[in-house]
Amino acid sequence: MAVKMVAPILKDAHARIAQLPMGAALSAQVDQRATSVSFSTLISGGFTLNVINSIFVDPHLNDRNSFDWLTCILAHEYCHVQQGFWVDSIEQELIAYQMQLRVANEIGLAVGDDFKRFAPLDPKNKSDLEQARAFILDLAKFSVPTQTIYASLPLFQPTGAADNIGAAFKQLSAAGLAGIQAWQLVRDK
Ligand SMILES: [Zn+2]
Repeated sequence: MAVKMVAPILKDAHARIAQLPMGAALSAQVDQRATSVSFSTLISGGFTLNVINSIFVDPHLNDRNSFDWLTCILAHEYCHVQQGFWVDSIEQELIAYQMQLRVANEIGLAVGDDFKRFAPLDPKNKSDLEQARAFILDLAKFSVPTQTIYASLPLFQPTGAADNIGAAFKQLSAAGLAGIQAWQLVRDK
């Protein structure tokens, strides 16, 4: 099996991640699951919906000048595929942001303090997760739907309901417009 992607730039970013010491296992996992990766105008940045084994990426990143940034965002989303949860949490987001940072460092992409500040946080520490939520909300300050999603996420990853489709869509629909967008993504598949 292999990851499902059409755009050449996505294939190149996938190959780039596979070459990195911290990326080889991630890209192998995405290949094994045959996850679908595509550009969608509904997304800013990246978004993973494990319910439908799909990653969606902002079409603004379909540009060779943004290749390093695309690679880092894809590595973040690959983290979510590896986590495999249908319901997200700040804990999982922090782990994904830290992977994104490690990839940026490895490929020499300069990132601002708004990303670097995730590095020292501990995904198992409650007050660090509260900090992470504040940083994520700050990153999403120009997108109300994105803010709504992250404001509604639990700090720690729920264990019982995490693979429950009802719980997954309850979380998505709680996000209002973002939820509607997620439904559209499912329908478009
Ligand atoms: Zn994420």
